[in-house]
Amino acid sequence: MLPQLILRTLRTADPKCIGKFLWNFGVKGMLSVERFKARLRRGEYFPPFLYVSIINSCNLRCQGCWVDVEAERATLDLDAMNRLITDAKAHGNTFFGLLGGEPFMHPELMDILAAHPDCYFQVFTNGQFITEKVANRLRELGNATPLISIEGRDLVSDERRGKKDVLNKTMRGLENALKARLLVGVATSVCQTNIADLCTESWLQELIDRGVHYVWYHTYRPVGPKMNAQLALTPAQLVQVRRFVVEMRAKMPIAMIDAYYGHDGKALCPMSTGISHHVSPYGDIEPCPIIQFAKETVRDERGIFETIRSSEFIRDFREISAQATRGCVVLERPDLVKSLVEKHGARDTTARGTAMAELEAMAPRFSQWLPGEEIPEKHWMYRLAKKYWFNDFGAYAKADHDATARDKAAALVKAGTPEPRETANV
Ligand code: SF4
Repeated sequence: MLPQLILRTLRTADPKCIGKFLWNFGVKGMLSVERFKARLRRGEYFPPFLYVSIINSCNLRCQGCWVDVEAERATLDLDAMNRLITDAKAHGNTFFGLLGGEPFMHPELMDILAAHPDCYFQVFTNGQFITEKVANRLRELGNATPLISIEGRDLVSDERRGKKDVLNKTMRGLENALKARLLVGVATSVCQTNIADLCTESWLQELIDRGVHYVWYHTYRPVGPKMNAQLALTPAQLVQVRRFVVEMRAKMPIAMIDAYYGHDGKALCPMSTGISHHVSPYGDIEPCPIIQFAKETVRDERGIFETIRSSEFIRDFREISAQATRGCVVLERPDLVKSLVEKHGARDTTARGTAMAELEAMAPRFSQWLPGEEIPEKHWMYRLAKKYWFNDFGAYAKADHDATARDKAAALVKAGTPEPRETANV
């Protein structure tokens, strides 16, 4: 798989884009995680990966979206982003995830990227604003990869994203990005309506034939004002997606990202491990994108490093959620999220002001932690990368999960999850 992936990438991507990816993300990204680990040894927390929602506005209306896309436009402008990135860079960070809303609707996005040639940016986008001109500018800069979300074939895409002709418009942006020889990814939030179409080898082959370099399979999180809980996956399907990713990683010449499992297949939460936190379009510092409550903002004169390092709220969220679960505390224990928010008197960071009501309306459900269903990485490269630079960093060392794990395992059997099968190592 790997030699084909490397040759395919060298053949299809611009050398500057590959160089920036390998140096700014690859080498310096690894070093930023090493600095994170050094901080952990000192009992200090500041994430090496920050996810920043630079704008709330979007042209689509997706099911399960938690962003205030219909509210008055809010953006983190160039000055605010320069301040945030410069402070984080001073502590070794070089990778930033840019989200929205739709980041390509932000008038200063290219200026933000251009101001930090020594960093690497992953832009989470629906692709519909990636014109040839935009794509060529990204190529000139070389330090950003568009991660384009596709949520289904034509009909499902329109249904999932609340607009017409969605897939065609997204594919046009994808083609422009590929024609400009960018490093391009496709993301899918796997749910009931797209798992049969998009969690398949044939879909991956289609993306490979188009020239796509990597994919990211998220699992649908029923949160926000339009939860559509019926779209969420069953425990059996969560295991199916995990097994699909592990198997396809070892076979298909396309890179596959995930953020919820260690090299040993054990579940983890990026927020609980402290490897990433989120900044909202209003500048609020949130434990993660779907926990829309905060005590601090990026406007704090101390700067983002000191603000996160000394945040009682963020620390408590990390530690208490790690005590409760290896999975998603929002899905599994919305009651615990509520009590943490109330304990700290944290603000609802949404413009709609209904985050607490949404939380109270949530019923606990399974997430990525399915005890007994662990599927270790099959391919040596993912095993290695995760073992050293993406694992639980000891976040669960003090947690006594045995009782919870037993209860969950029993509940899983009742929920009809299939018996775990051995997977051979390669
Ligand atoms: S709390 Fe849930 S959504 Fe947030 S980072 Fe953890 S697993 Fe992901």
